[in-house]
Amino acid sequence: SFSADVVPQAPEDPLFGLMAAYRRDTDPNKVDLGIGAYRDDDAKPWVLPVVKLADEKLHSDPNLNHEYLPIAGLADFTSASQKLILGGDSPAIKEKRVTSLQTISGTGAVHLGALFLSKFYRPNTHRTAYFSDPTWPNHFQIFGNVNLPTATYPYFSKQTKGLDFDAMIGSLESAPEGSIIVLHACAHNPTGVDPTQDQWKKIAQVIRSKKHFPFFDTAYQGFASGDLARDGWAIRYFVEQGFELCIAQSYAKNFGLYGERAGCFHFVTSPSSEAESTIARVASQLAILQRSEISNPPAYGARIASLVLNDPELFAEWERNLQTMSGRIMDMRRALRAKLEELGTPGTWNHITDQIGMFSFTGLTEAQVMKLRNDSHVYMTKNGRISMAGLNTKNVEYFAKAVDKAVR
Ligand code: PLP
Repeated sequence: SFSADVVPQAPEDPLFGLMAAYRRDTDPNKVDLGIGAYRDDDAKPWVLPVVKLADEKLHSDPNLNHEYLPIAGLADFTSASQKLILGGDSPAIKEKRVTSLQTISGTGAVHLGALFLSKFYRPNTHRTAYFSDPTWPNHFQIFGNVNLPTATYPYFSKQTKGLDFDAMIGSLESAPEGSIIVLHACAHNPTGVDPTQDQWKKIAQVIRSKKHFPFFDTAYQGFASGDLARDGWAIRYFVEQGFELCIAQSYAKNFGLYGERAGCFHFVTSPSSEAESTIARVASQLAILQRSEISNPPAYGARIASLVLNDPELFAEWERNLQTMSGRIMDMRRALRAKLEELGTPGTWNHITDQIGMFSFTGLTEAQVMKLRNDSHVYMTKNGRISMAGLNTKNVEYFAKAVDKAVR
């Protein structure tokens, strides 16, 4: 018989523990660099102006109701999502080699992909999923929950605080043939370190020669560089090369729709005369999985994103909003690096501006992170990751001085 008293205590989610500690701190100078959400120059959440516009438009529609969406979600949203990530003139879309389902944001898309692979990907053979070391920690839990074995490939170099490219390639070369390789499309979380386009080409070559299966996680398109095509380049390159692959797409960061859980999962198959019938069968299985897990996805966030993605004027406004967010973050990178160099803080700080996106891997040790928290009320994860969005013109100097004190 079962009694719930056999259930052991689970460890607290480190990020949510950090947020709670920040909230308890009453110091007026406290700085939150933990949370992976955009903040404006006043450290406040930012509702994108384009989301406000779409919201007004949505609510002035007299036909708006609260009916269920279809199992695969809002069709206008999923088709626009394909075009956004693959490019409007993608051969995969033209050749009907893509199937897409609306999901519970990026997390739900990663989960749906992992669940699909756990059911259909090369049963009874080696099929480990490889993640970058480090990666978004939820990757391990999501793939583990569907019983896919997980492993890592080297990624971050502690020496250069950039990509350890040779070690990464070596590891992809020595992984058993047909492994699942999870890749961050841009603005790698937690390091902020992305491969160059030449490096992506070499990664694609190795994945091809080892018959690995690429699984792209894209949570920051447009948020990283401010340019949607540039941030989608790696995925578009792989599709152009004819790979069969999965994409988990999130609208949390680039639309500021965190709590609305708008996302999309795409499966792209390789070009062939069978592709259209293959993708129809894949779609039928994904629909069954989606039905059993969530029945159908939530409507509000997808309606907002869909209005913007399908309206040229709103789309242009969105691009401006993306530039505001990515531009402010780049300004903070430059300001932080300049301050640290001005203070003569021991170490090199070029990685702060070399890295891209929401996060920077500072290279601060766990002891220095704890010193920053205890002495200066600065909150960041123990691995030395900071959310650049937590910095602003009012606290960047305070933070630089606190780092200077902690590393001396
Ligand atoms: N994947 C990566 C790499 C992320 O950084 C995130 C968010 O932090 C996600 C996926 C999914 O986020 P969400 O489920 O909020 O879209």
